[in-house]
Amino acid sequence: MRIDVHVHVYPPEIQADWQSIAACEPHFASLCSGRVHKWCTAEDVLARMKEDSIDVSWIAGFAFRDPGLCRVCNDYVIDAVKRSEGSLKGLAVVNPLSRGFEEEILRCREAGFIGVGELFPDGQVFDITDMRQTWRLAAQCHENGMFLMLHVAEPVGHDYPGKGGSGPKEAANFCSNHPEVQVVFAHMGGGLWSYETMPEMRIVLHNAWYDTAAAPFLYGPEVLNAAVAAGAGHKILYGSDFPLLGADRYEKMFAASGLGDDILSGIRGDNAAVLLEKVRSFPGVEGLN
Ligand SMILES: [Zn+2]
Repeated sequence: MRIDVHVHVYPPEIQADWQSIAACEPHFASLCSGRVHKWCTAEDVLARMKEDSIDVSWIAGFAFRDPGLCRVCNDYVIDAVKRSEGSLKGLAVVNPLSRGFEEEILRCREAGFIGVGELFPDGQVFDITDMRQTWRLAAQCHENGMFLMLHVAEPVGHDYPGKGGSGPKEAANFCSNHPEVQVVFAHMGGGLWSYETMPEMRIVLHNAWYDTAAAPFLYGPEVLNAAVAAGAGHKILYGSDFPLLGADRYEKMFAASGLGDDILSGIRGDNAAVLLEKVRSFPGVEGLN
């Protein structure tokens, strides 16, 4: 089973109106006017999945600051998931500091969503190290048997639109505040996996996962070997960040790493299936998937 855990879709009305939306959403504005930005519908995803032999994609709208815009994205994903006959699974976007976001997560959960994300700590202006700002979000994910996907980035290296200042240190802080929550840290967790070699951090990071989104832009293939050597190979999830990149760039990276088929089939989808089993095994959420 090949699973792409990190795919972005945009409702056509968001694309059509993007300039006026961008005027009130600075993070959205900086991403949309970036050199590598592309728009993408659920149909584009399904067409590319066929080409790339991907069985299931986990799709998300854009995590705006405005909860109304988040709802527009979630509505679109609900509809796309319904029409996809199992090929697409939904992630909910919310502003975790907005009033009523808990109900929005529940609404998405009842529509069969499996997670919440990709949320942008810097873009949506919330601090993942401040428990007062995260405990409701963590509780909603945990109670509803959903994982959380957070955008984090490397604290070093070149800057790019949307990179933000939340990295491995902030991510680790979130995990120590909320060890019960399954969290997918996007973009190889900004390097968080390397701290799995510290015995106490291995415990703190017990429920942390790392996706490969944009990795070919950021790292050489040896980052995968290093993550495996650090004992985190079973926690790496293939995420393309489509429409930014498609599977071809990742397959090149996987081949160049020289990693064995057992590790690579984990990354390509088996590890994601384990994550889903973990969140689904939570009592009370059976039958919602
Ligand atoms: Zn991201």
